[in-house]
Amino acid sequence: MPGEYAENLTRTLITVAQARKLVLDAIRPLPSELVEIDAALGRVLACDVRAADDVPPFPCSAMDGYAIVAGDVGRLLAVVGESRAGAPAGRELRDGEAIRISTGAAMPAGATAVIPQENVKLRDSSIETAAAVAVGQNVRGPGEDMRSQTTVLEAGGRLGAVELGAAVAAGLGALSAARMPRVTVLCTGDELRAPGAPLGPGEIHNSNAPMLTGLAANAGALTAPAQRLPDDRAATEAGISAALESSDVVVISGGVSVGPHDHVKPALAALGVGEVFWSVALQPGKPTWFGTRSEDKLVFGLPGNPVSTVVTFSLFVAPALAALQGTRTARTLESEAELGVEVRRDPGREQALRVRLRRGDGRTVATPNGAQGSHILTSLLGADALAMIPPGQGTLPAGTAVALEPLAS
Ligand code: AMP
Ligand code: MG
Repeated sequence: MPGEYAENLTRTLITVAQARKLVLDAIRPLPSELVEIDAALGRVLACDVRAADDVPPFPCSAMDGYAIVAGDVGRLLAVVGESRAGAPAGRELRDGEAIRISTGAAMPAGATAVIPQENVKLRDSSIETAAAVAVGQNVRGPGEDMRSQTTVLEAGGRLGAVELGAAVAAGLGALSAARMPRVTVLCTGDELRAPGAPLGPGEIHNSNAPMLTGLAANAGALTAPAQRLPDDRAATEAGISAALESSDVVVISGGVSVGPHDHVKPALAALGVGEVFWSVALQPGKPTWFGTRSEDKLVFGLPGNPVSTVVTFSLFVAPALAALQGTRTARTLESEAELGVEVRRDPGREQALRVRLRRGDGRTVATPNGAQGSHILTSLLGADALAMIPPGQGTLPAGTAVALEPLAS
């Protein structure tokens, strides 16, 4: 289609920042639901978590030893009972007495300190203190970890293993979490074969399928198995239509350029998915397409080259999935790095280089992770981030500060 190709050459490309803003402006965060702790790993918290009570809930021992009234060395104290974890002594302690106590066990009423067992000498049914102990020594106060009603976890945070532990300690059995976005990945291309299948002439393996479903799952999505669509107008439309019914987000790889076998755009138009943008001033990843249907269906058309697919997923789809779940932007990556080598600029497009980061002396140095062609999938292996090279003439010398973007993984 020469006419359409010409249009593609002349149309003004939007910047990466403009494209991302258009994506984020289209997001309606998903509603929350109550999730049992056992099923909440990786989910995004929708409400703050407050401690229901003090943690620890009662004064308890920090050591294995004897609960006593604080005092000097050389006292003889009668051992009158035991307080074990989960089984308090059930008896008050008086001066001149000791109660054997385990770590975490409740302090008996009347006791003001714990003397560790290595600091006592056993004398029949008594102990002799071999060290002085001050009031409160080796005793954990209630609320030392969490004070009743204080906020322990904030809404928008992703629930990792320690967050779940903290929520349980805080007294919760279930958490309010954003509903997981349902994502379907569709890979277009007659040339694509299943993993491990022998290849005929002109065929390649469908490497985008596990990458896109994996990236979506790691971004918190509920993923359906990726489907392959042939380069056929009717099959493309039928596949996208089914995916739209079952998903919040449809991610399509390939078929979104302007070749005669690229059927994605007309199929989307026929299905009532409105185009928000197509073509970004980005290298790799120019023919990226984004559109919506009825505000609650998002569709991304990503260019099929594996590197373009991962780069555009990182820059547009990952932030969308985060925003759908109401994730706080917990950016662990520094926002800038120095180029480790000279880089040629692209006159019209921002480049997203796959880089390795080297940190030291308070600096972060970014070096390209091998050849940067959009078909060089191995440039993603071991890459730490994307270094964004602004468009322009000539080269950027080594040492130039450039912005970093997280590379989805
Ligand atoms: P397209 O965007 O459909 O024009 O595809 C661009 C290039 O990416 C072509 O070389 C395709 O063979 C390749 N490609 C498309 N889809 C995939 C995929 N799922 N896995 C690996 N390579 C792909
Ligand atoms: Mg194709």
